[in-house]
Amino acid sequence: RMVHINENYRKLAGSYLFSEIARRVEGFKAANPEADIIRLGIGDVTRPLPEAVIEAMHKAVSEMESPETFRGYDPEQGYDFLIEKIIETDYAANGIHLDIDEVFVSDGSKCDTANIREIFGLGNRIAVTDPVYPVYVDSNVMAGRSGTLGKDGRWSDITYLPCVSENGFIPKLPDSPVDMIYLCYPNNPTGTTLSSGELKKWVDYAKANRAIILFDAAYEAFICEDDIPHSIYEIEGAKDVAIEFRSLSKTAGFTGTRCAFTVVPKEVKAYTEDGRPVELNKLWNRRQTTKFNGVPYIIQKGAEAVYTPEGQRQAREIIRYYMDNAKAIRECLCSLGFEVYGGINAPYVWVKVPQGMDSWGFFDKLLNDFHIVGTPGSGFGPAGEGYFRLTAFATKENTARAIERFQRIDFYSFQG
Ligand code: PLP
Repeated sequence: RMVHINENYRKLAGSYLFSEIARRVEGFKAANPEADIIRLGIGDVTRPLPEAVIEAMHKAVSEMESPETFRGYDPEQGYDFLIEKIIETDYAANGIHLDIDEVFVSDGSKCDTANIREIFGLGNRIAVTDPVYPVYVDSNVMAGRSGTLGKDGRWSDITYLPCVSENGFIPKLPDSPVDMIYLCYPNNPTGTTLSSGELKKWVDYAKANRAIILFDAAYEAFICEDDIPHSIYEIEGAKDVAIEFRSLSKTAGFTGTRCAFTVVPKEVKAYTEDGRPVELNKLWNRRQTTKFNGVPYIIQKGAEAVYTPEGQRQAREIIRYYMDNAKAIRECLCSLGFEVYGGINAPYVWVKVPQGMDSWGFFDKLLNDFHIVGTPGSGFGPAGEGYFRLTAFATKENTARAIERFQRIDFYSFQG
């Protein structure tokens, strides 16, 4: 006998996108130790937490000091004080009614979007937009739901929905049936959005096909235009077919502090093998109570402060700061003649690389000639080839310096 590994892990790509980027940047640094590199690549934030959050967390730390106010194990689903604020501010204010036991506070949308697949049958077929946030695909590969990886970079059992400039980054409904549909809007990496009309097509599809939509709204707070849905539940019927993920990571600087939540309405169901409907809310609750210990009280008190008037104002200021960066990057690249997408309702700017170059070629060119690090679009899926992602999360100063360097780009010298 011997102990075996989960063979599915062997199928995962050996070199994760960000480690390949790190490898190339390290190589460049070793050869050019003096180079002043500006990073517009990884999606971590640079602004500190809002003051209201810091204050609330300090108070919560003090509460831990005395036996009367000390807290031990937290409820796995989150404290009511936070869930009530979430429902009131993010949903009820927009006419969406949710019950307290339909919101599950967690330590991240990464974990939740990766773990949610556990409550679904292995035989389900998943669909992802392409390019895509890699967690949805990799978590399903680990589960053994992906089939085999083809030479074209696509898994045999995954349905890809290409989102490219030719279709305006709007995914087409699949030709053959799918069961679990991952949608992320505003989108990482393309920074594009879906209108209510487009989203409605997916809700109708899911209803007609007894499928589910896993809707990642991690960048909801970055929406600036009026007619873009902030929640999938703004779409009629979505509560029957959609789970929604939201995160305070980018919204309020919680990337290191960790707080997010997932909405599982009681109406949303999947089916037993003999076709009987089961509430997914119950299954997710069961999963969380078994495998998750809840978000620390101190962090949830900090998260609660995001929902106070000061917290909202301070968080909005941070978002405006990043969106000013996005606008500056966008306008600079547009004026240089690049085809540019996103950056209006999302902190990501998606650039078409000049003709004759591929995503990694453009990465190397920006790194070597301009000392700027971005993310090659091909790292997010086959349809990302020929694109490049820049993020708005650097400091204002570094963004301005990067823009000065971009302005030195001779666009025509890039044409292959
Ligand atoms: N979903 C998307 C689309 C993201 O881009 C990210 C972070 O980059 C996450 C989820 C992860 O969020 P969290 O920090 O809450 O785990």
